[in-house]
Amino acid sequence: MSTEGSNVYGVIGDPIEHSLSPQMHNAAFKKLGLNGIYLPFHVTRRNLRPAVLGIQVLNIRGFNVTTPHKTAIVKFLDELDEAAREVGAVNTVHNDEGKLVGYNTDGLGAARALEEQHEDPSDKRIVLIGAGGAARAIAFTLARRARSIIILNRTKHRVIKLAKDIEQKLGKKILARSLARNSLLEALRDADILINATPVGMYPRTEQTVAKRKVLHSRIVVFDSVYNPMKTLLLREAEAAGAKTISGVGMLVHQGAEAFRIWTNHSPPVEAMRRAVMEQLSRR
Ligand code: NAP
Repeated sequence: MSTEGSNVYGVIGDPIEHSLSPQMHNAAFKKLGLNGIYLPFHVTRRNLRPAVLGIQVLNIRGFNVTTPHKTAIVKFLDELDEAAREVGAVNTVHNDEGKLVGYNTDGLGAARALEEQHEDPSDKRIVLIGAGGAARAIAFTLARRARSIIILNRTKHRVIKLAKDIEQKLGKKILARSLARNSLLEALRDADILINATPVGMYPRTEQTVAKRKVLHSRIVVFDSVYNPMKTLLLREAEAAGAKTISGVGMLVHQGAEAFRIWTNHSPPVEAMRRAVMEQLSRR
C-alpha cells in the first residue's frame, strides 16, 4: 500500500493495542478509494498535552479518543459540538486547518444500533445501567426521544448528577437509582429496552453480568454496549429469558461511521466497516 501524501488519522488511548478502530477505518478508506491511513497511538495520561500538540504540528486530520482521555482532552480543544458539550466528553476530534473541534458520536452510535435492529427508541421505556462517559452519551441522546429513562449506577452520586444534568439541559425528568438487584428488578418490570453501558462482561472478565436471567423477561430488548465478546454473558442470559438481544458491535460501527463522515465529508461505507470489525472479533 502506498501511503505517500496520505491524510493521517488515528486513535489515542491507554491501552490501545486492542482497538478495532484502525481496521474499521482503514477498511472504509480502502472501500471508498480515499487516500487516508488510520493508526493507533499509545498515549499515557501525562503525555496527553504533548500528543495533542504533535497532532496539530504533524497535521493529523482527525482522531478518536478513548480511555482514559475522553474527558481530559476537552481542555485542549478549541470548540465542542453540542453532544460533546452536554456529555462533557469527546470521542472524536476533527483537525479543521489547525482548529481542533471535539465531537461525541457514542450516543448517536447507540441510537443507530437500536434503529438498525428495528428498535426505534422513541416512546420506549428505557433502563440504562452506568453513569460514565458512554452512559452519559447514550442518556443524553435517548432522553430526547424516549418515553421514560431510569438510570442505575453502582455509585449513586454519579447517577444523580447525570439525571440533574439532563433535567437542567433538556428539561426532562430522569429517575436515578443505585444499582442493586431489587432496584433493577423493579425498573425492568415495565421496561422495553435495557442498555448496559458499563464494562461488566467485557474480555477478560467474561463471566460477569449486570443482570441475570431471573430479572429479565421476554418483552424486553437487551442491548449491551460491550462488543468484546460479541455475545456477552448478559446477552446469553437475555436469550435464555426469551428476550431479543443487540450486541455492542453496531454501536462501535456507527460511532466510527459518524466520525468518518465528520473527518472526510463522505458517506461512510458502514457494511465494509462492520465486516472489518466482525473479522477481527471472530479471530479473538
Ligand atoms: P467509564 O466512564 O469508566 O464508566 C464506567 C461505568 O461502568 C461507570 O458507571 C461505573 O460505575 C460502571 N462500572 C464499572 N465497573 C462496574 C462494576 N463492576 N459493576 C457495576 N458498574 C460498574 O467508561 P465508559 O467510557 O462509560 O465505557 C463503559 C463501557 O462502555 C466500555 O467498557 C465499553 O465496553 C462500552 N463502550 C462501548 C462503545 C461501543 O462503541 N460499543 C463505546 C464506548 C463505550 P461507577 O460510577 O460506580 O464507577
